[in-house]
Amino acid sequence: MERDQAYRYRCYPNAVQRHELARTFGAARFVYNWALRERTDAFYERGERMSYVQSSAALTALKQSEGHDWMNEVSSVPMQQALRHLDTAYRNFFAGRSRYPAFQRKHGKQSAEYTTSAFRYRDGQITLAKMDAALKIRWSRPLPPDVKITTVTVSMDAAGRYFISLRFKRPVQPMRPVDGAVGIDLGITSLVTLSTGEKVHNPRHTKRDAKKLAQAQRKLSRCQTNSNRRAKQRKKVARIHARIQDRRSDHIHKLTTRLIRENQTIVVESLAVKNMVRNRTLAQHISDAAWGELVRQLRYKADWYGRTLVEIDRWYPSSKRCHACGHVVAALPLDVREWTCPACGVVHDRDLNAAKNVLAVGHTVTARGEGVRPKRFTAAASFVESGISLL
Ligand SMILES: [Zn+2]
Repeated sequence: MERDQAYRYRCYPNAVQRHELARTFGAARFVYNWALRERTDAFYERGERMSYVQSSAALTALKQSEGHDWMNEVSSVPMQQALRHLDTAYRNFFAGRSRYPAFQRKHGKQSAEYTTSAFRYRDGQITLAKMDAALKIRWSRPLPPDVKITTVTVSMDAAGRYFISLRFKRPVQPMRPVDGAVGIDLGITSLVTLSTGEKVHNPRHTKRDAKKLAQAQRKLSRCQTNSNRRAKQRKKVARIHARIQDRRSDHIHKLTTRLIRENQTIVVESLAVKNMVRNRTLAQHISDAAWGELVRQLRYKADWYGRTLVEIDRWYPSSKRCHACGHVVAALPLDVREWTCPACGVVHDRDLNAAKNVLAVGHTVTARGEGVRPKRFTAAASFVESGISLL
């Protein structure tokens, strides 16, 4: 069996390439927005659903019409891919999976996608259509040997940094099965607490970055709209965001790889559940983003290596239940880090007790034998113990 995989790298286009990319990003964005308007109008004015093929024919006509010569100067592939992306966005919308497609903005993340006819991969170098020189890429990890790259996406984030993502097909590589199972509790003081008792902290500096970010955002909100200073400050905010993101993603990659290697079954609560019990502060926004990233990575790595990820998507009292005797306390304020079970007298670390309960729920789900490994499970409603009010 084969799976799609993508590796992403920083890249450093030279001045000529940056200029070409800016034009290509612009063209792809223009086509996306133009086709979105065409399709929306077709729907409102004629009650028609325009297909990808119709959009594509309309694009060909547009390129030949007066005043659109510039569209023939850049590579046509990223424009065509923009139409495909829009088509996917529509499919998701009609299937009820997402909202109506939105116009792409000039200030957001820019990207252009190149398929095989529009790039060359030779001697470990990538050259894009309409460019003479290969892109300078920081190969932070080697590509697997003998892969056939199917798609190349170049993007620029709001902080002005360039990235290249290389997509390729690769055979699935299950790891040797192991016996371990682990429950995970996400916290704010510790990034995660494992049912084994281990606590993993946020990367150092994150707190300092968060403070800097809050400061920079306050400053941004005081800048006048459309001023030069505001544009500058916006970039500054984006750079801090990017730094926090990078550090977090790196940290989480190491953690998820280790969890997958050491355990056959990994149990987490879903983010929707976590959101029910917490209020919104900056620290929580940051830990939410970390949680989302953690679960995303666990999902694909579990798939990839043949492990089982159980996601508990129903609320149950993971913090308030004593894992030793099953007693549930009525209330447990967020600032209580340690508590003594009134029924059995066991002293609990709040997060460790929660992680152990999460693991216990995971065991009951897998014990019901819902399918064969590797598979992802979600827990059903039956864990809410009777007589306990939700929240
Ligand atoms: Zn107890």
